[in-house]
Amino acid sequence: MTTYRICLLPGDGIGPEITAEAVKVLGVIGERFGATFEFDEALLGGAAIDATGTALPESTLTIAHAADAVLLAAIGGPKWDTTDPDKPRPEQGLLGIRKALGLYANLRPVRIFDALKDASSLKPEYLEGVDMLIVRELTGGLYFGARARERDVEGAGTGGAPGQRAYDTMDYREFEIERIARVAFDAARTRGRKVHSVDKANVLESSRLWREVVHRIHEAEYSDVELVDQLVDNSAMQLVRNPAQFDVMVTENMFGDILSDEASMLTGSLGMLASASLGDGTALYEPSHGSAPDIAGQGLANPLAMLLSVELMLRYSFSMHDAADALAAAIESVLADGWRTRDISEAATPLELTVGTVAMGDLVCEKLGETRR
Ligand code: NAD
Repeated sequence: MTTYRICLLPGDGIGPEITAEAVKVLGVIGERFGATFEFDEALLGGAAIDATGTALPESTLTIAHAADAVLLAAIGGPKWDTTDPDKPRPEQGLLGIRKALGLYANLRPVRIFDALKDASSLKPEYLEGVDMLIVRELTGGLYFGARARERDVEGAGTGGAPGQRAYDTMDYREFEIERIARVAFDAARTRGRKVHSVDKANVLESSRLWREVVHRIHEAEYSDVELVDQLVDNSAMQLVRNPAQFDVMVTENMFGDILSDEASMLTGSLGMLASASLGDGTALYEPSHGSAPDIAGQGLANPLAMLLSVELMLRYSFSMHDAADALAAAIESVLADGWRTRDISEAATPLELTVGTVAMGDLVCEKLGETRR
């Protein structure tokens, strides 16, 4: 039986509550699919600041590096909000661990659960068949290129005096484009469909290099996968016009940041979105939502985004595709039966079908074939 070590980072707010459901569900999956999951819990974010004075203790990094995968719930909360630049902030933990693990690819599935179609801001007929994966480059582009703010000696600011100028540089190297292209093509291969490569090659030099490199990798290694180039402004429009045309979308850092938020709204619900961040070593999985301090400790949190993050972990870190499919099907089936946590319930949802965090986890376990508690 294979044993997988998972570094658990429950973090803050609802984090510990949804982490407990992930552990419970993994117990059932381990039994059904013949694997053992061992958990090493570590501190991150506000909880780490309280215990150690820093958002990312060295011990957490050691545990994360040694693990087969990292499962992170959420960090942050009003308790640690500060404008004092010398005080530690929970987000430093998140950014720090992503950097330390060298996570350059962020994967966000956008899947419409039939039962939740009405929660979308699009009409249900536009959502038929939507099942896409956004692959966002995470360590290059504008967010990490040369930047400055300086006195503008040529221009005039208010009152005719020199104003300021500022710039950020969209900088990409070939190897960065090559590796993200491979992540996208590999994903498309397992999903059996196509890749849309999104750029702004009609204007930006970095996009022309992007397109050139993506095509080179495609021709040399992935000619069996269909490749479509699309300009980013068109993609933004197509996402709301005909989202079902997309399978895997790969794009640079800032385009991906914006398009993935746009696409996430197709699902209509924050409590249902998972993400994977991959590098060359240990990968990290986390729900897209935050620590929801307004409902923390009340047993109301929706654990499904966390469980969908577990699904991604089974797929990408452990290659347990049957288990991942079974978990996705279990979640789909619980929703189809009408069960809802408060955040995804509608006016028409009967009161007796509105459940809390633990009950939702139990329902998923039941569908997976066994009730644990
Ligand atoms: P949030 O995602 O925590 O909450 C937004 C709203 O959605 C709230 O009403 C909350 O109750 C609800 N919500 C979120 N997740 C839910 C779930 N699983 N089940 C039910 N309802 C859910 O965003 P926010 O309020 O802007 O931020 C709260 C804290 O979380 C802040 O400190 C912020 O910095 C942090 N944050 C962390 C992450 C992360 O850990 N990756 C991401 C975003 C925000």
